[in-house]
Amino acid sequence: MLLDLNKLHGSREHVERTMPPAAFDPRDPDYRVAAPVRLSMDVEKAGGDAFVVKGRVATTIELSCSRCLDPFEVPVDAAFELRYVPQSVNTGDGEREIAEDDLATAYYRDGTLDVTELVREQFQLALPMKPLCSEACRGICPRCGTNLNRTECACRPQWDDPRLAPLKSLLTNWKEN
Ligand SMILES: [Zn+2]
Ligand SMILES: [Zn+2]
Repeated sequence: MLLDLNKLHGSREHVERTMPPAAFDPRDPDYRVAAPVRLSMDVEKAGGDAFVVKGRVATTIELSCSRCLDPFEVPVDAAFELRYVPQSVNTGDGEREIAEDDLATAYYRDGTLDVTELVREQFQLALPMKPLCSEACRGICPRCGTNLNRTECACRPQWDDPRLAPLKSLLTNWKEN
């Protein structure tokens, strides 16, 4: 979805949209949009050719658990506030004054704001680096691949904490010497 900034009515416009998940089809395979995306934002002229865009975007996103690889859904409700300036073709950017506020800067092109891109970026920011279906997720058995959240496997229970492995080898070396 593109927003034509030349067609703003007055100095501020409220934009309210519900967009189908398909509008955000994965260029990014890390996640899948699993529910309609609700966007509500105010676009305001901010002097010169700058605009301040403030609002929130909400949906449900499906991720894969980094431990057990099962898909799970997380609600996303992200607030944002961005300053949009035109993307300059000839980089006279060095002369641009630093804005007084410390809003993140985004760029629009040909008088249009790419709303899809804006929303995608908010998703990226909102998603966890290491997604977990639950803090208590038991993951996958490293030997047989069984999902330990669903069933036990016949492998010997592994009490070895991988974080302790370096310590263990240290102790072994110490004993040997
Ligand atoms: Zn999991
Ligand atoms: Zn196993």
